[in-house]
Amino acid sequence: MPGLEDLYREIILDHYRSPRNRGELPVPPATKAEGFNPLCGDEVVLYLDVDPDSGTVRDVKIAGQGCSISQASTSMMSAAVKGKSVEETRRLIRAFKALMSIHESKLEGDGDGADLQADLEGVRLGDLEALQGVVKFPVRIKCATLAWNTLQQALEESGA
Ligand code: ZN
Repeated sequence: MPGLEDLYREIILDHYRSPRNRGELPVPPATKAEGFNPLCGDEVVLYLDVDPDSGTVRDVKIAGQGCSISQASTSMMSAAVKGKSVEETRRLIRAFKALMSIHESKLEGDGDGADLQADLEGVRLGDLEALQGVVKFPVRIKCATLAWNTLQQALEESGA
């Protein structure tokens, strides 16, 4: 029986090989945001279409290139937020960043991660949990969080 780590690796590889929601959206109504991780050379171009009436993420498209972690994380992010309300999307961003920094703060020995734990409370991460193995390689954390920082930027620029 495959272990959890194998399962996580499979999920990441699947998103890397068959990235979800690739493409572009017309701007406007969509908002375009770009993120770059100079440590690794990862690039994310995000098109976010928020329906102002319902306050939900109507559509999201992704372009750009980078390492397997950054591309898998971007693909997972796009699948996770599509159809979600802006509020749920913001909670997901906080939760994912908490997932990535809980271990980091443990490694650095500051605090017990209680605030971060609160951000994770009641949020269903699903497949995104597959990326938690990344925190064992601190240099890759920025690869994993790039998509989420870019999403946050797009949300702010969209005025949602
Ligand atoms: Zn990378």
